[in-house]
Amino acid sequence: MTFPQKHSATGTTIFTVMSALAQEHNAINLSQGFPDFHIDTELSQALGDAAKNGFNQYAPMPGLPALRQAIAANFNTRYGVTIDPDNEITITPGATYAIYTAFTSILTPGDEVIVLEPAYDSYIPNIEMNGAKAVPVSLSAPDFHVDWNRVKDAITPRTKAIIINTPHNPSGAIWNKSDWDQLADLVRNTDIVILSDEVYEQLVFDGAKHYSVLEHEELRQRSFALYSFGKVYNCTGWKMGYCIAPPAYTQAFRRIHQFLSFTVNTPAQYALTHILGNDTATPVNIVMQQKRDHFLSLIKQTPFTIHTPAKGSYFQVASYERISDMPDMEFTQWLTKEHGVATIPVSAFYSNKKDDKLIRFCFAKKEETLDAAVERLIKLG
Ligand code: PMP
Ligand code: GLN
Repeated sequence: MTFPQKHSATGTTIFTVMSALAQEHNAINLSQGFPDFHIDTELSQALGDAAKNGFNQYAPMPGLPALRQAIAANFNTRYGVTIDPDNEITITPGATYAIYTAFTSILTPGDEVIVLEPAYDSYIPNIEMNGAKAVPVSLSAPDFHVDWNRVKDAITPRTKAIIINTPHNPSGAIWNKSDWDQLADLVRNTDIVILSDEVYEQLVFDGAKHYSVLEHEELRQRSFALYSFGKVYNCTGWKMGYCIAPPAYTQAFRRIHQFLSFTVNTPAQYALTHILGNDTATPVNIVMQQKRDHFLSLIKQTPFTIHTPAKGSYFQVASYERISDMPDMEFTQWLTKEHGVATIPVSAFYSNKKDDKLIRFCFAKKEETLDAAVERLIKLG
């Protein structure tokens, strides 16, 4: 049996590779993006209560009405936007699934999708699995801002969509209002659809504001906005997310969703409904900013160079130019095996594996984890 090649990515996703290598070598895992601390007890309690109280059967296909209403109310409070929970919100098993489903609901073979690189590694395979072609456009070093002229040059009559991500994985860059306006200028008078990956929307630091596509009246009309509860409530393993899109887009999304997973884990939907109305924990941006600051102060003691501190997300990119001239893939393997700290090579986020000698650290970790990792990294000096 030969299996069809559905996409161009070879091998296993880097997040699986590096987490497995970390485990094999008993290394401190700052590679794959997930917190190593407990979730809020209010949330774990609510999950247990939902299961004990018998909420264990299929939830409605678009998601529990109460959860969709709670999301709409939460966005109204935080962004001042009005969202119709019945016709504009769909609960999904994570954001990765929501991105795939959004692509599948709009793409036909031969379409092109512009992807700003470095990019989360599921985007391009998801585009290709739909018979479409990814058109990569590089973000600009050292701060990974968008060069709008490059995006403009990449648009063709076949461009069906642009996928954007702010706050950005892996760079921690965030868009300002003018980025959104420039995007709007480029797509005006076209049928280009926007997929706005905003999974790190609540992780912005130093008092910065995350601008959501939902706040941009013009762009919102042509956008799927994608979110993950995993990043907000530190429960990445729950794989819970949602898609917000105008009614016609939501209908198209649900036409696919109903035959992919159909519905999403019911007890988790109850627990998330509960926490959205009863969240008393320290806001996640404050928790993560403390971790970023702690990590940045520690990393100064090592030979790594930080070109731009992360403005959002829970990742920090660093250069190892003062340590080695190995390719980044090889460097991260060596660092894991020989020095017991696992990270992600930034080349993994480029379709052409562009190697700028950069690695990505995840700082969503307990203080003692970060301390122990840096203690090992100091020895590189
Ligand atoms: N987009 C980006 C940029 C991410 O980093 C992640 C992290 N996993 C996701 C989407 C997917 O989130 P989820 O775990 O909810 O699928
Ligand atoms: N988004 C997470 C990261 O960038 C990992 C998600 C995954 O493992 N697919 O590390």
